[in-house]
Amino acid sequence: MKKYDAIVIGSGCGLNIVEEALEHGLKVALVDKGPLGGTCPNSGCIPSKMMIFAADRVVEIQESKKVGAEAEIKNIDFNYIMELVRKSIADTRKQVKNGILLSEELDFYEGEGHFTGEYTLAVNGKEIKGEKIFIASGSRPIIPPLKGLDSIDYLTNESVLQLKEKPESLIIIGGGYIAVEYGHFFVAMGTKVTILEMADRLILAEEPEISDLLKKELSKRMAVHTGMQAESFGRSGNADYVQVTDLKDGSKKKFSAQKILIAIGRRSNADLLKVENTGIKVDKRGFIPVNEYLETNMKNIYAVGDANGQQMFTHVANRESVLAVRNAMHGNEEKMDYNAAPHAVYSHPQIASVGLTEEAARKTHKVLIGRAKYFDVAAGEAMMETEGFAKAIVEDETGKILGFHIIGPYAPSLIQEVINAMASGGTIDQIHAGMHIHPAPPELIMRTLSNLQG
Ligand SMILES: Cc1cc2nc3c(=O)[nH]c(=O)nc-3n(C[C@H](O)[C@H](O)[C@H](O)COP(=O)(O)OP(=O)(O)OC[C@H]3O[C@@H](n4cnc5c(N)ncnc54)[C@H](O)[C@@H]3O)c2cc1C
Repeated sequence: MKKYDAIVIGSGCGLNIVEEALEHGLKVALVDKGPLGGTCPNSGCIPSKMMIFAADRVVEIQESKKVGAEAEIKNIDFNYIMELVRKSIADTRKQVKNGILLSEELDFYEGEGHFTGEYTLAVNGKEIKGEKIFIASGSRPIIPPLKGLDSIDYLTNESVLQLKEKPESLIIIGGGYIAVEYGHFFVAMGTKVTILEMADRLILAEEPEISDLLKKELSKRMAVHTGMQAESFGRSGNADYVQVTDLKDGSKKKFSAQKILIAIGRRSNADLLKVENTGIKVDKRGFIPVNEYLETNMKNIYAVGDANGQQMFTHVANRESVLAVRNAMHGNEEKMDYNAAPHAVYSHPQIASVGLTEEAARKTHKVLIGRAKYFDVAAGEAMMETEGFAKAIVEDETGKILGFHIIGPYAPSLIQEVINAMASGGTIDQIHAGMHIHPAPPELIMRTLSNLQG
């Protein structure tokens, strides 16, 4: 059995660990079943955002009338957009593979691995042992065990990328960020979209008023039904259908479309790895619990990224992976801090959030809340942005920013100054210290923090 200083499972954020471990002269093995590079470049952030970039341009043209410029879209070449996406995926895979193969010090095991005993893995019939092991095995879509689902050719975030023609109609099961992002894309392409969400609002992690505005805005372009529990699926004629219970009144309803996309959430790949064989315990949802140093219940085995289910975003996975490898090499020294972990939703309108929601903050702090609309600042008025807004949650005694939430244009870029301030323990004074260019969208941040009320 070959022995390593470090075994890394997963070539998404796991590559950060490989790089750092090799730089420190460790003997390293990387295990990945492919596609190489992980979810982000293959079926997550990058392809979806390339598609949404096209959708955003389409919407801009459609909305140009409001500035007095009438424009018409003559044709959208759906397959051209998808080919650009597929080329980007293929190029990245090639680059990642070349990078891995070029590294002479790295032993690469291409195949599905699973634990066979403590600190021991089997891949393609070979057993390897690691003094330190990093589980960066990611997640995959949850496919609910519902009647008839297997009988239809449903889409996931992976298979959707293989489409060559836009579906004439699409039902999206789920109302989280993947569902609303793909809803925005397909409706811009000309598909008739219906979103069916079981909860009573979209994207439960967001502030309720952000969910409400998102639903209001999306409903102008597609059908959005909340409180709908999918129960069974089937095919009739040329269409797939889903039967649902409307949780508001218990009535049964049926929705049909050319295609159905399942986007109800993601589950950890820890089960594929049979982590129980190395003594690792998983939580009720199958994710691997870790301490603040990202170590599992087994000493010297760390779990990072989607595998631990803390906050399933690439920037979080990257931060965790760098911290875990440093902790493993230098003795647990650095704690992972999620207080300023942000996320964005690239729907139309866009959303960005960092830190606590008002409800969560009120449980542990005395808070002040600030609100401002884009329209309250000059750039927002120039954009004629009457609906978008920002909300700040600030600790009363200290002025420390506990949470910040934006819905509207450029939200993911706008929020960065708040993230930076929060990451350095920031108070509102840090934001106010810097002059804000007038007129520019970041004045929204300043205005929101000037409107604090108890
Ligand atoms: C549609 C979509 C859009 C998204 N958009 C964004 C976004 O805009 N911004 C953002 O921050 N995040 C986004 N995410 C989330 C982001 O993609 C993930 O949080 C991130 O990729 C997780 O990285 P990871 O390294 O933990 O796992 P992954 O990147 O999934 O890597 C896991 C690797 O482990 C391998 N593996 C798993 N099990 C085994 C095994 N048993 N043996 C061998 N290899 C194995 C897999 O093949 C894979 O290569 C999106 C996700 C989706 C699905």
